Amino acid sequence: MSTSLDNPNQLLPVVPIRDGIVFPGTEMILTFGRQRSVKAIEAAQNAGKRVVLVMQRNPNINDPTPSDLYQIGTVGEIVQMMRNEGEINALVRGISKVELTSYEAVEPFFVARVAEIADVIEDDEETKALFNHLTNELRQAVKLGKTMDFLTFMNIMSGMSPETLSYHLAGVMDTKPSERQELLELNSVKARFEKEAAYLAKEVKVLELEKKIATKTQEKFEKNVKEQVLRERIKTIEKELGDDDENKEFKELADKIKKAGMPQEVKEKAEKELRRLTQMSQYNPEASYVRTYLDWLVEVPWNQESANTVNLADAEKVLNQDHYALGKIKERILEFLAVMKLRSVSDEPVEKAEKTTKGVASEKNTPKRGSKSAPTILCFVGPPGVGKTSIGKSIARSLGRKFVKMSLGGIRDEAEVRGHRRTYVGAMPGRIIQGIKQAGTKNPVFMLDEIDKVGADFRGDPSAALLEALDPEQNYAFSDHYLEVPYDLSEVFFITTCNQLDTIPPALRDRLEIIRFAGYTEDEKFHIAKDYLFEKQRIIHGVPAKVVDLADEGLREIIRQYTREAGVRNLEREVATIFRKVAKKIADADAKSKKTFVIKPADLQTYLGPTKFSSSLAEKKDEVGMSTGLAWTEAGGDILFIEVALMPGRGTLILTGQLGDVMKESAQAAMSYVRSRFKALKLPEKFYQKLDVHVHVPEGAVPKDGPSAGAAIATAIVSALSKKAAKRLVAMTGEITLRGRVLEIGGVKEKVIAAHRAGIKDVILPKNNKKDLEDIPKAVMTDLKFHFVEHMDEVLKVAMPSLKFSTQN
Ligand code: ADP
Repeated sequence: MSTSLDNPNQLLPVVPIRDGIVFPGTEMILTFGRQRSVKAIEAAQNAGKRVVLVMQRNPNINDPTPSDLYQIGTVGEIVQMMRNEGEINALVRGISKVELTSYEAVEPFFVARVAEIADVIEDDEETKALFNHLTNELRQAVKLGKTMDFLTFMNIMSGMSPETLSYHLAGVMDTKPSERQELLELNSVKARFEKEAAYLAKEVKVLELEKKIATKTQEKFEKNVKEQVLRERIKTIEKELGDDDENKEFKELADKIKKAGMPQEVKEKAEKELRRLTQMSQYNPEASYVRTYLDWLVEVPWNQESANTVNLADAEKVLNQDHYALGKIKERILEFLAVMKLRSVSDEPVEKAEKTTKGVASEKNTPKRGSKSAPTILCFVGPPGVGKTSIGKSIARSLGRKFVKMSLGGIRDEAEVRGHRRTYVGAMPGRIIQGIKQAGTKNPVFMLDEIDKVGADFRGDPSAALLEALDPEQNYAFSDHYLEVPYDLSEVFFITTCNQLDTIPPALRDRLEIIRFAGYTEDEKFHIAKDYLFEKQRIIHGVPAKVVDLADEGLREIIRQYTREAGVRNLEREVATIFRKVAKKIADADAKSKKTFVIKPADLQTYLGPTKFSSSLAEKKDEVGMSTGLAWTEAGGDILFIEVALMPGRGTLILTGQLGDVMKESAQAAMSYVRSRFKALKLPEKFYQKLDVHVHVPEGAVPKDGPSAGAAIATAIVSALSKKAAKRLVAMTGEITLRGRVLEIGGVKEKVIAAHRAGIKDVILPKNNKKDLEDIPKAVMTDLKFHFVEHMDEVLKVAMPSLKFSTQN
């Protein structure tokens, strides 16, 4: 190789190269864009065409200084050059390796003094062997797919000196810039060969691996393509034959529509939607909505119904089998069923009866269809746990119909009842249609729970939609926004339940046939627990029969000391707790041990923990300034203690404790009554100028029945002022007027049962409430003494016999 420079220690322009090396003996096309480089190339072009090419240590530096450059570079000769918009493209041939000994100028371009470095060219066997090995390896690499300039490859293959080969290889090797610089800086050809052999070996390995992977990928790819093609082919064939997946689904849907027994109008709608679906692309998001809609349409029962027979004897049997007591309620239900039975065979529409009685129903208002169901809807009113749901289930059982229950508690949105329109994301039918679908028949017994908890707000009035669903005159074509087609609810047996009637909108209440569940006496609870709940919980907990022996007295103890409720829900829970504990003991012990668990009153603590309620009333003494009232709440009847304290002041009435607004008013009325009667009652004169009266209700529930605590408040005030105790075991209820008249109140049955439960002996009731005692259990009637009064004076006579007063004011 002619490596010699014209002058071995000459000054030459220097061009920094970001990350490339032009090895001596090789050629390369370079592009020079940086100003300093362009100027250096131009200067070189004009004088000897020689330039020093030297690599930057860091390719990212734009404007390198001499210290950013390696010290060893190559002198290159510009073979050809072309300007191109401020840049220069030049073919440069490497001439010789040089060391840049000093920089003589930096501007306008680098000029350095260079000293040529000559390689040692070994002439031993090893070098020769390496020479051959490297040419073979390179050939192998190219064979495996190494990309390199074809001309260079041909040149190498046609033979060259060891030194030239070593530089050519360095130029084509797959190495990092710093590794190339290292190769350049080696001054022994043999050493260079050795390094290159290592690099090339690695490269060949990688190439082999790549090839292997590529072959595998290729095979896999080919397999995939093949499968895809085949699958497509199958699809096409199936499509031709008309039975691909999609088609299958459409066919199934069409079949379901045919079999669903839909009314003509609905069927047409369903078919139209199905046509729309078939025309939709599989990827159209709307397709899934249409599919869901069609699923609903075909799954709602259009003609599936349970046998529609009413056998009163059977019904009575079932009701009695499932429930203890509730005689009056069962009777009312049987009457209702009897009417239903007669109506189902009668041809005369209900409207005819309305016409005859009112004589005003115009033809226009007459519905097109006479409804077959009873014209009213049953409504079970009562506290929780009194058997409303379970009577509903029994009705379904006795009629051989399905039973569904939907709670309406807390709904405020009309859409909850009537469904969302389909344009709504995540739209669904309302609860009525959901319940019907759940039942699977079009004539289930449908219990709508908690209709007193339905609210209304800006989203529409759910009760209006409810009315439409429940009203037998409209509900043969109930419209659910989601379903879009009318649904006939006229054969559904609706039963509604609630805890109180006050909050039900009047329009809805008008339609309801109210059946009241007042709550159970202790004795009734005892029998329900013994004969029904005990057995039910035993089976639920998987405890074998006769393993638990719960003494009657123990059961009564649970009722008295662990529960305080109108219904039997907590009682059932306590019984369940006993069985749970027993079940655990059985499971822990040897499965075969046939131990029985005898539970006596004394054992209850271990099973149920400390008692929750003490029968406080009987144990306490009569006190001045206290009276016992009766209240009615959503949870049934309850007793209520009123406390009155007097303190120096000016006749202010202070009210604290669990007092609702209405109760505050009745306290005012009671106070006015006492003030106006102070003389007759022999109370301290002008007490209202010297004393403040503080009325407090220490514990118990907030009464929901308005002013019925008046009598009890007045009694407590009189007791406080007269310093004479009122009888604790005399409970009273009644609204009072300013003049002391005692007015009729509500919830008598619940209150009386609560009084009985609490161990009260005497109950004072307004005279006009006498009629309400009719359906109170006999046991209660015999245990209690009733006093019917018209005036507060009579109340005081019973509650405070020690009080002497004249009847005149
Ligand atoms: P509600 O619907 O009024 O809240 P449930 O019907 O859920 O009450 O009654 C609670 C539990 O008490 C149920 O297990 C039910 O079977 C039982 N139960 C209620 N009343 C009676 C009864 N008279 N005879 C037998 N079991 C009853």
